[in-house]
Amino acid sequence: MEESMKTIEELGEFGLIRHLTGNIRIKNKSTLKGVGDDAAVLDYGEKLVVVTSDMLMEGIHFNLMYTPMKHLGYKAVVANLSDLYAMNAVPKQIIVSIAFSSKLKLIQIENLYKGIELACKNYNVDLAGGDTSTSLTGITISITALGEGEKGSVVYRSGAKKNDLICVTGNLGAAYLGLQLLEREKKLFLENPEVQPALEGYDYLLQRQLKPEPRADITGYFRKHNVSPSSMIDISDGLSSEILHICNESQTGCKLFADRIPIDSETERLAAEFNITPLVAALNGGEDYELLFTLSPGEFVKVKDNRQIKTIGHITAREDGCNLITHDGSFIPLVAQGWDAYGKRGQD
Ligand code: ADP
Ligand code: MG
Repeated sequence: MEESMKTIEELGEFGLIRHLTGNIRIKNKSTLKGVGDDAAVLDYGEKLVVVTSDMLMEGIHFNLMYTPMKHLGYKAVVANLSDLYAMNAVPKQIIVSIAFSSKLKLIQIENLYKGIELACKNYNVDLAGGDTSTSLTGITISITALGEGEKGSVVYRSGAKKNDLICVTGNLGAAYLGLQLLEREKKLFLENPEVQPALEGYDYLLQRQLKPEPRADITGYFRKHNVSPSSMIDISDGLSSEILHICNESQTGCKLFADRIPIDSETERLAAEFNITPLVAALNGGEDYELLFTLSPGEFVKVKDNRQIKTIGHITAREDGCNLITHDGSFIPLVAQGWDAYGKRGQD
C-alpha cells in the first residue's frame, strides 16, 4: 500500500515522525543535531543550546479525574527537563503554551502554574514566555525547554560502542503501576460514586505517576566525577523502546539481563495484585523519567559506587540483535511496545 494512504494509527508515532522528517536537510551550520534525539543541539559560540518540546493533551496524556492541576503543571515541566538531562545539558529556560476552555475556573489555571513554578524553582529554571489560547477540546499544554550544553560533553543516542556497559538509574515500571491504580479507582468511582478510592500503601507508585522527578542528580554526578557516557536517553516510553533507540542510532545490538532490571518492591506488590509481570511493566510501561546510558569499561569504574546506577547489560555487535536474556538463559528479542499516543495505549 502507498504510505500516504495508511492511517496514522498504522504508521505509529515513530513511523509518522520518520515519514515527516526523513527528508529534512539541515541548512544552518549552527544546527548540530536536528530531529532524532531527545533534544536538538544548536551551536551559538562558546556554549551549545539544547532544545526540546513536549505536548500533553487532556484525555491522551492525562485525566483530570485523578490528576491535580498542580501535579500536571509540575509533570509537564519535568517531561521536558528529563529530555535535556538525557543530553547531559543543564536546563535554563522554559516556554509554556496552553490552551483551555474559557469556562474553566481561574483557580485551575492558577494551580497549573503553581506546579509549573514549583518545578522551575526546584530545577533552577526560568519561565521565559509562552502562548495562551482557548480550546474546544480540553486542555493542551505544550512546553519547550532550553538548556546549556558544554562543547564535547553533550551526549547523544548514537555513541554506544560494542562492549559498553548499559546502565539505568533508579527503578522502572512504578509510574505505569501508579497509572493502573488510578485507572482502577476511577472506574470503581464511576460505577459507584459512594466508594472512596483505596490508594493507601502505594504512595511511591502514585508519586512516580503524578509527580515524577527528572535525574538532575545523575548528570550532576557525571560532572563532579568527570564521567562521559557514550550514549544516553531518558526513559519516557519504556526500557525496550529506549534501548532500541540507542542501538538503532548507534548501529549496535545489546544484551539486557532480565534479573538485573531494577524494580521497586511496591511495583512488584501491586503488579501481583493486577496480575501483571513486573518485568513487562519495566520494559513497556512509560513515564519513569529515569536515565538509560552506556559507559565504556574505563568510565564505568567512576560510577560503580553510585547506588542509584545499575548495570543491566552490555552493547553487542549489530548482527547479534537486541535481546533480553531471561534468568534461565533464553534470548528474547526486544520489541518496542512503549507509549504510543496514536497506537494501542492512549489513556481513555
Ligand atoms: P522523546 O520521547 O525523547 O520526547 P520523541 O519520541 O517525542 O522524543 O521524538 C523523537 C524525535 O522526533 C525528537 O528528536 C523530536 O524532536 C522529533 N519530532 C517529534 N515530533 C516531531 C514533529 N512533529 N516534527 C519534527 N520533529 C519531531
Ligand atoms: Mg526523551
